[in-house]
Amino acid sequence: MGASTMEAVPTAGGALLLDGKAVAARVRAAVATRAAEFAARHGRRPGLAVVQVGEDPASSVYVRNKRKSSLEAGIESFAHDLPATTPEAQILALVHALNHDERVDGILIQLPLPKGVNADRVMDAVDPAKDVDGFHPVNTGLLAQKRPRLRPCTPYGVIKLAEAYGIALTGLRATVVGASNIVGRPMALELLLARSTVTVCHTGTRDLRAEVERAEVLVAAVGKAGFIPGAWVRPGAAVFDVGINRASDGKLVGDVEFEAAARRAGWITPVPGGLGPMTIAMLLSNTVDAANLRAGRRE
Ligand code: NAD
Repeated sequence: MGASTMEAVPTAGGALLLDGKAVAARVRAAVATRAAEFAARHGRRPGLAVVQVGEDPASSVYVRNKRKSSLEAGIESFAHDLPATTPEAQILALVHALNHDERVDGILIQLPLPKGVNADRVMDAVDPAKDVDGFHPVNTGLLAQKRPRLRPCTPYGVIKLAEAYGIALTGLRATVVGASNIVGRPMALELLLARSTVTVCHTGTRDLRAEVERAEVLVAAVGKAGFIPGAWVRPGAAVFDVGINRASDGKLVGDVEFEAAARRAGWITPVPGGLGPMTIAMLLSNTVDAANLRAGRRE
């Protein structure tokens, strides 16, 4: 991505909008350039295998978007759609085959996997060098030890979005609401790497409001529509809303009450158009990184 800072546009509430869609477009353009350079050097495009097991409707939308964006960025896309009844051993056999396929630089297993399949076992089977989701314990461990390699897409997207708008995270009091393995925990590690002072909230947190009110940077990753009232947001805070929820009227909404929060925050992401597009852009970026890392290892 270019070094120049994005132009900040205010929302109706007054907070400046963190336009994930626009920043993601910049990231994808940079990825396309790097993918073309890789293809010129190695005689093949970087390759991303996307594995979907079953037909969860939300997953199908995500998978379609990921495959389409890959192709647009000059990344080869390998589609593996398996029926929901596929035995775990067969999924593992596919992962092993992809690990050894030289055309494949990145392997993405779309979650959730069907009940009865041990998701940890499947994810752990992915070669860490091809783990473009950044979920493998090796990549999480490297991030925890402040030597990141392939970084988890949504948390990495938050960092890149902050960077694009010139928000300096060092020293800020950051609160992450949600502690899942795929968003909350790696988000805390990313913020720590960025030298924020980090608090992580979860279902065991005693006084969530007090924690949120202190946050100069707030990341919400809970999965409940409008769960964080705007009135809790600290004036001037940078609010990153990772949640994607279907409201009763059918619209997509985040975990934070957007209008009320935008009257208090300094910066805020929209839903949709915030971390969703950033997540896909970082997946593509990771795929080219993985391709270059693997090629470097062979040279
Ligand atoms: P999850 O259900 O695995 O984790 C939710 C977390 O929220 C848990 O750690 C839980 O402790 C915490 N939580 C739940 N209720 C709480 C409460 N009352 N108080 C405090 N903490 C509470 O969900 P996830 O996979 O981390 O996803 C979270 C949200 O982010 C979902 O809406 C998901 O759709 C969205 N998501 C978006 C993207 C994207 O690309 N933008 C990517 C991944 C996930």
